[in-house]
Amino acid sequence: CFEPNSLREGLLCRVKTPSIDSFDKVTIVGAGMVGVACANAILFQKISSHVAIVDAFPKKLEGEGMDYCHSSVFLDDPYVEYDTDFCVSSNSKVVIITAGARQIKGETRLELVQKNVNIIKNIVPPLVQYSPNAVFLVVTNPVDILSWVTWKVSGLPYNRIIGSGCHLDSARLRSLISERLGVASKCVNAFIIGEHGDNQVPLWSGVNVAGVLFRDIMPTIGLEMDQEGWSELITDNVKAGATVRCLKGYSNTAIGLTAADITRDILRNCPAVKSVSTMIQGHHGIHHEMFLSLPCTLGENGVSQVIRMRITEHEKNLFQKSAEIVYNIQKGLKI
Ligand code: NAD
Repeated sequence: CFEPNSLREGLLCRVKTPSIDSFDKVTIVGAGMVGVACANAILFQKISSHVAIVDAFPKKLEGEGMDYCHSSVFLDDPYVEYDTDFCVSSNSKVVIITAGARQIKGETRLELVQKNVNIIKNIVPPLVQYSPNAVFLVVTNPVDILSWVTWKVSGLPYNRIIGSGCHLDSARLRSLISERLGVASKCVNAFIIGEHGDNQVPLWSGVNVAGVLFRDIMPTIGLEMDQEGWSELITDNVKAGATVRCLKGYSNTAIGLTAADITRDILRNCPAVKSVSTMIQGHHGIHHEMFLSLPCTLGENGVSQVIRMRITEHEKNLFQKSAEIVYNIQKGLKI
């Protein structure tokens, strides 16, 4: 007669050791406000069943880990690991980088650069070592420069590095237009390209609802002489992140959902079109090796295709100006 040594042994008859390998593992580096928002957006929407979180502070990690443990009943028991050691990230399909110093009041995204370049230089090599086949999604600001630094430091092909870039700025603009028109934001088609930040470039020439181009109704839309002040939406859009930070101390929910949305396309190999930060050399007259946002198709290899946007001369000039400002900072960096 079988005499179990424990309740577990009395309940469970082992056939084979359970596997902990997963096909959809996502690592998030940085368990701050943004990292946790990314984890929440991924776990709450069941985009991945296996999330690893890395941070420099063990207590913070332990607290977050306990909180997810207490949530497991409601989340279909995802596997959430955490550690200060990068080995916890091994065999990830997607690595999301949110570690870094947060933008402080009055500091531009570009001023953050040197602090965060140094962090990227330290964390990317071990992450690549543990997950050589992963797609890297950079969220830490200034996201365009840090995506380029991640590419340089990683030694990976550039398609495997994506910056969250203007996918968030485009979403913000779509919501601002939706508020003015009373049309659901997902039905407003609008793209922002260029730098995620002060020098973002709205493509007013393509903004449409149901294929009806706003520019066909109002040829001056988004320009200085536009009588209805649509260009003011861009002023609000540029200030959006800072306004949220000023009001609540940080911005995290929308960027968490933005990163989760990109992660979903990578894990599902879905060729959705998003304005993300990618290598722009050779596009719209840019000769430098640098990352800025352009609409791209995504998938398991990261960026698969860049859309050949038909932009106006004015939009092209703004894009080139955006590139010049970012490149002038990038070229002075020691990486
Ligand atoms: P935070 O200060 O709350 O969190 C940052 C976390 O990074 C901290 O927990 C810190 O311990 C960790 N960290 C720092 N260095 C590390 C290292 N070497 N290894 C492991 N962990 C490390 O900041 P936050 O509010 O979460 O913002 C994070 C970043 O996201 C900032 O750069 C911010 O500007 C950026 N951000 C980007 C967007 C976007 O649209 N791309 C939007 C919002 C915020």
